[in-house]
Amino acid sequence: MAPTAAPPASASPSSPRAQLIHIETDRRLGHEWDEWDGKPLPGNGDFSAPAGLFFGYAGLTLVTLAAIAAGILYLLAPRFATLWLALPAVVVWALAGLAAACVVWLGLLIASYYGGANLLPERLLERGPFLHIMNFTSGVARVFGRRDWVEHAAIDVYNTLAVRRGRKVGKGELLVLIPRCLSKLALDGVLQIAGRYDVPVFVATRGQLARRVIRERRPRAVVAVACERDMMTGLRDVAGKLPVLGLTMRLPNGPCRDAMLDLETMESWVRGCVQA
Ligand code: SF4
Repeated sequence: MAPTAAPPASASPSSPRAQLIHIETDRRLGHEWDEWDGKPLPGNGDFSAPAGLFFGYAGLTLVTLAAIAAGILYLLAPRFATLWLALPAVVVWALAGLAAACVVWLGLLIASYYGGANLLPERLLERGPFLHIMNFTSGVARVFGRRDWVEHAAIDVYNTLAVRRGRKVGKGELLVLIPRCLSKLALDGVLQIAGRYDVPVFVATRGQLARRVIRERRPRAVVAVACERDMMTGLRDVAGKLPVLGLTMRLPNGPCRDAMLDLETMESWVRGCVQA
């Protein structure tokens, strides 16, 4: 189904209101929440968690991946040896080197976050390996029933590093992407912010549609709003190609309805991105 765009709204100087472009969709709402049992979400849908939670799970994830690789190598070593006697040792050393590189990288990530200065370029940090580690870590956290908190912490780490880059774009080059589940209060707030800084707002109800909007509008940066689950897939799919800041929400009435967000943070991000 094709996206439909509302004509640009004229914003009065006293009460600016952004252009809102709605994308029709056949999406089944909130498939990320299929297993939701209808009970209130923990913490009233606020999954705030300290960055240390993500770093702990990221370390566990790297250990798990190393253990899986070692197990596979143990099983395949006899076969490797039939090809070339020294091959198992070569593979062991290659994997050991990779594991050491991962440990160093994780150390630099943690030092960057807590040290207040990014120690690697973005392609080697938040817009590079981080996006993969973040997804693997989410998988491990699911096993322990801590998915949403770990994802929240991961997204916070990502945003902290990304905001520090201080990227600036022209007014027409920033895009705000919001989900359809915002409360009226949150939606009004978003539209006012977008109106103040003259940036278009899209309601994109699924990652696939968000990607299409991005392809068609060709922004140079995106401020996206979503729950942790949706944000993870959005960042994974888009952040490697385009600078994205991802604002997570609170879900006081359960998933996919009446979501609340931190409008102050959103305004500071939009203001920070848009060149005067
Ligand atoms: S962003 Fe909103 S609508 Fe989309 S899955 Fe999350 S809670 Fe549901």
